[in-house]
Amino acid sequence: MAEFSVIDQYFHRPASTSVDLGVGDDSAVLTPPVGQQLVICTDTLVAGRHFPLDTAAHAIGWKSVAVNLSDLAAMGATPHSILLALSLPTVNHDWLAGFSQGLFDCCNQFGVSLIGGDTTQSPQLTISVTALGWVEHGKAVTRSGAQVGDYVVVSGQIGDAAFGLQHLAHPLRNRLDYPTPRCQLGQQLKGLASSMIDISDGLAQDLGHILTASGVGARLELSQLPRNPAFSELALEQQYQYILAGGDDYELCFTISAQNYQKLVQQELNVMTTIIGTITQESGLTFTQDGKDHQLHYQGYQHFA
Ligand code: ADP
Ligand code: MG
Repeated sequence: MAEFSVIDQYFHRPASTSVDLGVGDDSAVLTPPVGQQLVICTDTLVAGRHFPLDTAAHAIGWKSVAVNLSDLAAMGATPHSILLALSLPTVNHDWLAGFSQGLFDCCNQFGVSLIGGDTTQSPQLTISVTALGWVEHGKAVTRSGAQVGDYVVVSGQIGDAAFGLQHLAHPLRNRLDYPTPRCQLGQQLKGLASSMIDISDGLAQDLGHILTASGVGARLELSQLPRNPAFSELALEQQYQYILAGGDDYELCFTISAQNYQKLVQQELNVMTTIIGTITQESGLTFTQDGKDHQLHYQGYQHFA
């Protein structure tokens, strides 16, 4: 089957009316809303590296969109559309049907259109999605604004995906396969959070990016880290390994003044938020356990390590 029939059969769907020209021409055409900036990001998923080889095609489609919407959420942007660069070893119709359904399920849930892409043959299944969103001029939330005294806050539960990766038959596998991008919370944090990041490589590493970019440190209270009840059967060190060093949660980590946090929680939120620590003048990440200093050792994930 030719490349064009694959595109027509699986990826050519009507786009929203906010897309001037979508799939089918040499490029897509959009009209940016007046007063907004374009926010744009790309994430690639490689089979066996970013998802286990037995992952369902539907989940791969969902996740390839979700991880990108999560990056837009972490800027406070409203997601608008995606482009899909797909490299396939073979044309497998069952796989393509499941994959495209998962991809469109995630797009539809968050009001996003597929507006173009590229389809190629390659020995390794690789999925690259580029996501586009809008944010009011100057309102994007970056990594660099954390202030001494701000709360450090996370959404949801941290470490679930790492637990799911180690226990592939456990129901928490779902949190690995079907991450929920926190699009609504991200937009609600615009104008309130002083800095923000999404947790893709583990809380310690990703919060570390905020600390470096902002020139500050943080102190985290370990007993406050929000974790799944399934963690209670694990040793504490193992729990902290999943929570601090496990990746793939796609929750938001942000810093916010006490006053703005009050404003946030007065709104209706579709995910829980938990204060896990405070921003400090001294650089680096330190921990307390029930208020007392605590030394911790954990190993983060790095590509090319
Ligand atoms: P070109 O050769 O001009 O790059 P292509 O033949 O690659 O165009 O693609 C034809 C059209 O289909 C373009 O509009 C492109 O954006 C779209 N397209 C290609 N692959 C995909 C895909 N996997 N998902 C969505 N749109 C795609
Ligand atoms: Mg092309």
